[in-house]
Amino acid sequence: MTRDDARALDRSDPLAAFRDRFALPEGVIYLDGNSLGVLPRAVTPALADTLTRQWGERLIRSWNEGWIEAPQRLGAKIAPLIGAAADEVIVGDTTSTHLFKALVAALRHDPARRTIVSEAGNFPTDLHIAEGAVGCVPGATLKVVARDRLAAALGDDTAVLLLTHVHYKTAERFDLADWSARAHAAGALMLWDLSHSVGAVPIDLAAAGADLAVGCTYKYLNGGPGAPAFLYVARQWQAALANPVSGWMGHAEPFAFTDGYRPAEGMRRWLVGTPSILAMASLEAALDLWNDIDMAQIAAKSAALFAILAEAGAAAGLACVSPADPAQRGSHISFRHRHAYAVTQALIARGVIGDFRAPDVLRLGLTPLYLSHEDVWRAGALLQEVIADEAWRDPAYATRNAVT
Ligand SMILES: *Cc1c(COP(=O)(O)O)cnc(C)c1O
Repeated sequence: MTRDDARALDRSDPLAAFRDRFALPEGVIYLDGNSLGVLPRAVTPALADTLTRQWGERLIRSWNEGWIEAPQRLGAKIAPLIGAAADEVIVGDTTSTHLFKALVAALRHDPARRTIVSEAGNFPTDLHIAEGAVGCVPGATLKVVARDRLAAALGDDTAVLLLTHVHYKTAERFDLADWSARAHAAGALMLWDLSHSVGAVPIDLAAAGADLAVGCTYKYLNGGPGAPAFLYVARQWQAALANPVSGWMGHAEPFAFTDGYRPAEGMRRWLVGTPSILAMASLEAALDLWNDIDMAQIAAKSAALFAILAEAGAAAGLACVSPADPAQRGSHISFRHRHAYAVTQALIARGVIGDFRAPDVLRLGLTPLYLSHEDVWRAGALLQEVIADEAWRDPAYATRNAVT
């Protein structure tokens, strides 16, 4: 692949026009959109309107002028991206909190089933929250096993199988339908964490028969730092499962101000407290961008960007830990290197922002909406340079930041 080849791909790229809808900083090739997505230009005026008009002028009247429905309205906007119906998704809280609600609900659902099964090396918060959830349900246990032992770990005590669709380090992807079917065959519920796949790969929860799902909106969906997360509960479980964090926003009549808790119908019962409207406003503007997007085009471009970096990494002698088959991975590429932290820092110093995941992974996110093939080609050339010149040996690149 030459720079001209990359430019030729850019000329025929059906997604090329989306780049202008993002505020990309000068001199940066941003390969970390899987950790914090780039600011969509539409967010700035939307947030300004929320501040100055909705809050500043309309004040509390704004609750009745669109704020109170934000969790359901934004959920309906996420629904098509995950193969859900509009009334199966709500937005609010964090992915961690949604995980807690879903896991405790699943553990309490059938007294004969009190085990959560999950994967060793899953995203840390998923396992930490699962640990907390079993602590809240008498007799509950957490079974964490290697990927190749998952099928064997399912049994007649399994309440729920918790899997992250795309692995945050390696980009390995589980087959949604396959694993949902395995959970069901064991009599368990299937809970997917879509944080690393929503907006990155096509997702069809309905076709997969998934029961529950959670996901992050500040990664590929570009909702902003700490943007509210989403929760999906398949329609047939909405009344059968109970939200353990029974707050007033999930009450059937929050403004009746009664003492006793009575859950609302449908997805509203999964709400907890007052939604963060400023964060919702950013996210909503970011989500509106997805109206005109074809996920098949996203997947095709992601594969092309991956191929460029895979070739550059191989030329640099790096070990790629992401699957070669596009159908078996998400939208990032990871390389293993003993000094991956220093390599990441050396790249950042050259304007290529990727990230490091302990202990030895250099991770580069591929976001088809705002990266060109030429950007990624340039990043690959700089990666080869940093490795060939051993530029990463500079002691300045050895000091660890709090966020890596
Ligand atoms: C990013 C990510 C999260 C983030 O959870 P927060 O509650 O938003 O901090 C959770 N799970 C996975 C798999 C992730 O990739």
